[in-house]
Amino acid sequence: MTFTLTVEHKKKREEFRCFAEEELDSGDHFPQENLQKAAERGYMGYPIPVQWGGQGRDFLSYILLIEEISRVCSSTGAITAVHTSVGTFPILYYGTDQQKKRYLPGLARGELLGAFALTEAGAGSDAASLATTATAVEDGYRLNGSKLFITSGGQADIYTVFATVDREKGVKGITAFLVEKNTAGLIVGKPEKKMGLNRSHTTELQFEDLFVPKSNRLGNEGEGFKIAMSLLDGGRIGIAAQGLGMARAAIDFTVNYLKEQDLKGNKTEQGVSFVLADLACSFEAARLLVYRAAALKDSGARCSKEASMGKMFATDLAMTAATKCMDLCGLASAREESPLVRYFRDAKAPQIYEGSNQIQRIVIARQILRDY
Ligand SMILES: Cc1cc2nc3c(=O)[nH]c(=O)nc-3n(C[C@H](O)[C@H](O)[C@H](O)COP(=O)(O)OP(=O)(O)OC[C@H]3O[C@@H](n4cnc5c(N)ncnc54)[C@H](O)[C@@H]3O)c2cc1C
Repeated sequence: MTFTLTVEHKKKREEFRCFAEEELDSGDHFPQENLQKAAERGYMGYPIPVQWGGQGRDFLSYILLIEEISRVCSSTGAITAVHTSVGTFPILYYGTDQQKKRYLPGLARGELLGAFALTEAGAGSDAASLATTATAVEDGYRLNGSKLFITSGGQADIYTVFATVDREKGVKGITAFLVEKNTAGLIVGKPEKKMGLNRSHTTELQFEDLFVPKSNRLGNEGEGFKIAMSLLDGGRIGIAAQGLGMARAAIDFTVNYLKEQDLKGNKTEQGVSFVLADLACSFEAARLLVYRAAALKDSGARCSKEASMGKMFATDLAMTAATKCMDLCGLASAREESPLVRYFRDAKAPQIYEGSNQIQRIVIARQILRDY
């Protein structure tokens, strides 16, 4: 049993850290330049096979990449993770040869941006109760309904959309479709004004009699729910990596700040030390959980419980770290321009998306009860 990264992984992490620190900005507009720079280095298709235009790297390396990007710009981390794990993998895993040829090389090279549209107003945690319909017509389907809070809405080139061909069939009616931007009948809402992660655009999507050719149905009719659920393990480990990056950003900022303040002789030193020590322990534990989940995924083993553990623990830690670091830095964290304010605001959403952390706890508990 080993508890450290291989030399190769350590080198990769260093490469990603240098890239993130030297090349990425953390401004307030959609991070097109960041994504472009990531694409130039092959980072938008890092775990996608070389055959399809990607870098063919292991999942753990991809997780290190998302962690380092998220440490500098969590919105860029979120967009990259969604693009890769639920924007590109569905086509890699379930696409026909024709779909793979049409979309994968562009997605893997970052020339196209991918998105995933499952959530609706009445179907968040309970995704199975979605109401968007897909009615069979000659040569394809007509989609009607709407989706909410879709990452990269309006920026994405290709959306994996979930709709039901027959609501009476429940989950067995849910079917996945590939919808290209600019398709007639696709109406994209304005980006939501969110608490954080605002560089990552999140919008409503409406489908008004939108025609999808049969050739753009992903998998068979009724396989959509299975497809969506099968992507979640990888997606959750990606969000967990975002949590790691965000937690580290807050801790790094605070350690530097405290060192500059020179705490020697300060009577609060012990109070500060205890908080820092607790955060450092939790961070190491989070990393072990997340890297283990990624390594399990690389080995082909089942990793739903481990992915949920990593996602829940690392994203909860990002929120805790931002909060505690604000306490430690006092006034230095009180101004809007303080990076800690951004870390705090950005940390909330990852606790909610890709399955809220309450839902992760349900997944973990169910698996424990099953295995016991
Ligand atoms: C920034 C952001 C980006 C997003 N991007 C995407 C995207 O790209 N694609 C997409 O499809 N969706 C996206 N989402 C939506 C996200 O996946 C949902 O918000 C999430 O699944 C939760 O659904 P909900 O908000 O409807 O909450 P609800 O399901 O209404 O849940 C509300 C609360 O109840 C709790 N709860 C619900 N059911 C249970 C239960 N059975 N037991 C215990 N507690 C429960 C939840 O944990 C939560 O705390 C995004 C959301 C955000 C915030």
